[in-house]
Amino acid sequence: MSDKPYQRSIWWIKRDIRLTDNDALTAAIASSQSVLPLYIAEPSVLQADDASRFHIDAISDALADLATKLKTLGVELAVTTAEVVPTLTQLLDEDGFDAIYSHEETGVDLTFQRDKAVAAWCQHHGIRWHEYPQNGVVRGLKSRDTRQGIIKEKLFDTAPKPCPAPFLSWLPQTLPTQSLPDNDRLSPIVLPQDPTLVQLQRVGESQADADLTSFLTHRGYAYSGGISSPNTAFTAGSRLSTHLAWGTVSIRTVFHRSQHRINELSERKDREAMQWRKSLRAFQSRLHWHDHFIQRLESFPVMETQAINPAYQHLGYADDETILQAWHTGTTGIPMLDACMRCLLHTGFLNFRMRAMAVTTACFGLRQSWQSIHGPLARVFLDYEPGIHLSQIQMQAGIVGINTLRVYSPHKQLLDQDPDCTFIKQWIPELRDFPAETIALYESISLGDYPRPIADIKANAKLIKDQIQVIRKSEEGRTASSAVLEAHGSRRPQPKRTPKRTSKRTTQSTPKSTPSRAIRGTTEGTPQKTSTTAQKTTGKKKTSAASKRRSQLSGTKHEAENESAQLNLKL
Ligand SMILES: Cc1cc2nc3c(=O)[nH]c(=O)nc-3n(C[C@H](O)[C@H](O)[C@H](O)COP(=O)(O)OP(=O)(O)OC[C@H]3O[C@@H](n4cnc5c(N)ncnc54)[C@H](O)[C@@H]3O)c2cc1C
Repeated sequence: MSDKPYQRSIWWIKRDIRLTDNDALTAAIASSQSVLPLYIAEPSVLQADDASRFHIDAISDALADLATKLKTLGVELAVTTAEVVPTLTQLLDEDGFDAIYSHEETGVDLTFQRDKAVAAWCQHHGIRWHEYPQNGVVRGLKSRDTRQGIIKEKLFDTAPKPCPAPFLSWLPQTLPTQSLPDNDRLSPIVLPQDPTLVQLQRVGESQADADLTSFLTHRGYAYSGGISSPNTAFTAGSRLSTHLAWGTVSIRTVFHRSQHRINELSERKDREAMQWRKSLRAFQSRLHWHDHFIQRLESFPVMETQAINPAYQHLGYADDETILQAWHTGTTGIPMLDACMRCLLHTGFLNFRMRAMAVTTACFGLRQSWQSIHGPLARVFLDYEPGIHLSQIQMQAGIVGINTLRVYSPHKQLLDQDPDCTFIKQWIPELRDFPAETIALYESISLGDYPRPIADIKANAKLIKDQIQVIRKSEEGRTASSAVLEAHGSRRPQPKRTPKRTSKRTTQSTPKSTPSRAIRGTTEGTPQKTSTTAQKTTGKKKTSAASKRRSQLSGTKHEAENESAQLNLKL
């Protein structure tokens, strides 16, 4: 007689496509005589406005790797294309099962509503649904001040769980195994005509392990100072965002392995070891941001459509389909922006600074609303993580009200981050024959077939900045920003006050006894140059080695500042 409470359970695979350090799977195996690993590819989710072929490619890639790994444990992976509730009903009617194990998901309203429907279904049918956190996001968080302690205990003081040993599984009678649904939202008009030019990062537990290893042993050395330029960030950055988004590695594993490497290096006093430690500490601080921003969506789910700061709900955007399309397809006549957007369409990736520039140029320079760019950007980010994505879009649009307002100039970013126009020429073939110094004059001269700038982005940006300034100085703006700071600000200890919160998530209908809800870079890391052809000719800022270094360092600082919550009322 087995002492396990359940005969049959389902490991409902969500965005946790991995075996190692998977609390839901580990718990399912511990409490069930047999476990069905099941991925339900929901057409409603995979064909939604924020989903794309890129995401489906990532999921298929990750599932293929998972299926191979499960086979070595003697277990079959079940994949079906259907909605969740009808699938559960069919499984219950035809096969019977006792419990569901999954991770808590902090997603957009569509998946939140689906989870609520599943919770209601479980209650109706007497099926227990056990949900486990998979990161430092706390469901039903009472006070932000308690979050650090919870994270420390669950994430940093607890070792990652090993890959399970072979376990017994069951196979459904008739559940059809199907290929994943299609999604043509990234139509050929947007994507490159030649599909072989689309080079997405490989996604899967094996690849995550390889990417983490190469980062901790080779690539990470250049992290500090290397992540601001798109010429270096594709290799100097960890490139783990895609793996974390689809759950092919856990954030706990990433933290523990990076900490292990820091500990190893702490024995050494040489310069190389110092640079490594600096890089890895900067990297670890970003791991905290990962959960910090997802927590924002968890605590304020309506931010998918509403500004987190109500004072900024209505700004003078001038949404225009033609401008939006030009921005999305990289045909605005602004080289640094166009290169970034075309790069996204080919690779599904862009570094932080360039993402921030793409958003500020859209919202300020082109006056497109943050709501209008959310879907298009989500679709081309292979690492689309709703909580980070929505938080960052609102923050870069300048409407959170608690951050230093920073509008990235695409011209300045060209001079600072791509002075020889290497990145620009890589993605904009029309500009390949022009010298860098000529490209840098794009605001005032024609460059062959390449379009002239689509808008006066400086004038537009001033208009939106002025509006933001008025709100920041207003009584309403100050009051609303204080409330946002209190509810969603950074991890620094805040004075104790009653936080203002709306519609906290919870999908469980019953009280819970268990816890409730090869790098394919575009460029090899090219060294940063200290003299810039484009800067020399435009007469703008001739950058010395020292000031370049300062700029590289401040690159990291800017990003941190930009993300840190500060009630800064000055523009
Ligand atoms: C408008 C905009 C949208 C974004 N959308 C996403 C998104 O959908 N998914 C996503 O993972 N990141 C998003 N980011 C954050 C950031 O750009 C990416 O995480 C980073 O570029 C991924 O590269 P990396 O894995 O090499 O990062 P690294 O620099 O190696 O960082 C390590 C990890 O820390 C996390 N991280 C790094 N920077 C941030 C940040 N600013 N905020 C939160 N977490 C961070 C990521 O999980 C990342 O993998 C967005 C940024 C902006 C400005």
